[in-house]
Formats: sequence, structure tokens, C-alpha cells
Amino acid sequence: MTCIFCKIANKEIPSSFLYESEKVLAFNDLTPQAPVHVLVIPKAHCENAGELAQADPLALAELFTAAMQIAADRGLDGYRTAFNTGASAGQSVFHAHLHLLGGRPFAWPPG
Ligand code: 5GP
Ligand code: ZN
Repeated sequence: MTCIFCKIANKEIPSSFLYESEKVLAFNDLTPQAPVHVLVIPKAHCENAGELAQADPLALAELFTAAMQIAADRGLDGYRTAFNTGASAGQSVFHAHLHLLGGRPFAWPPG
């Protein structure tokens, strides 16, 4: 298995988790794009958010409830969530992950 997020989920790579439940876990992004930049992932491998919705809708919902809780823990009054799907949209790790970004203003539309 070469998926980096599976290795993190399987604890083959030591990581500090901000949130963990039966189905999902969260950790800081290696290259943060905002003061708060957390990745929330399903523990089970799934390529992207759409596939996760089909395979395990409860896990997809839990990515959002985890993000909401982490944002509250960090005192964010607003935050952005994003999923990149496909290389052309910027996806570089093909294990579904929700980006939780906060702590600075965000432009709309995103770049
Ligand atoms: P994507 O570009 O696929 O939407 O997002 C992948 C994210 O994973 C990027 O923001 C990148 O910084 C982050 N990332 C890639 N490898 C690692 C890693 O080994 N550890 C952590 N914590 N983040 C990673
Ligand atoms: Zn994986």
C-alpha cells in the first residue's frame, strides 16, 4: 500500500491527531495555506469525496461534523471546507480528504 494517507490512518507514520472517531481522523496539513489548515480523512481508503458518498455516506457526513467540532475547538467564527477532485482541480493525494481552512479572510471565487 503506497497511499500516504492510508499510512497515516494505519499509524505507520507517526502523526498528531486533532480528532479521531471510528470512521475518520484529522491532522494538520504539512503545507498549511492558512493559520488553521486541517485535513479530515476517512480511515478507509476511498479516492475522492464522490466515491466516499457512494461507499459510506455516514463517513462523508462525519468529515463535516469533525470539521465543525475542530473549528469550534480552534475558536473560528467562520471557516472554509474544500475537496479537490481530480488532478485538474488540484488533487494531489488520491485518498479523500476535506480541507478545513480558517484564521484568515478568503476570497470568492477561489483561485
Ligand atoms: P490535495 O492537493 O490532494 O487536495 O491536498 C493534499 C494535501 O495533503 C496538501 O495540502 C498537502 O500539503 C497535504 N499533504 C501531502 N502529504 C502530506 C503528509 O505526508 N502529511 C500531511 N500532514 N499532509 C500532507
Ligand atoms: Zn488511502
